[in-house]
Amino acid sequence: MIRVDARGSGSSWQPMINGKPVDTPRCSYDQAMVVAERLALAERTKPRNCMACGKSFLSTGPGHRLCNIHRSEG
Ligand SMILES: [Zn+2]
Repeated sequence: MIRVDARGSGSSWQPMINGKPVDTPRCSYDQAMVVAERLALAERTKPRNCMACGKSFLSTGPGHRLCNIHRSEG
């Protein structure tokens, strides 16, 4: 579970993922949240290589290590 947040005040807001600062501060809470959510989504869908065939695919999480073909085969 990825937790996104933005911390700051006035015109400096730091996008945060899981309590860690990511990217550069933005000038509003809303903009910082947009950045944090975009990066969190990219974090969730990392390109990985299938453990069975080595083909690159978009993984949705740490437990997702096989491409769609090999995942459906179990
Ligand atoms: Zn595969």
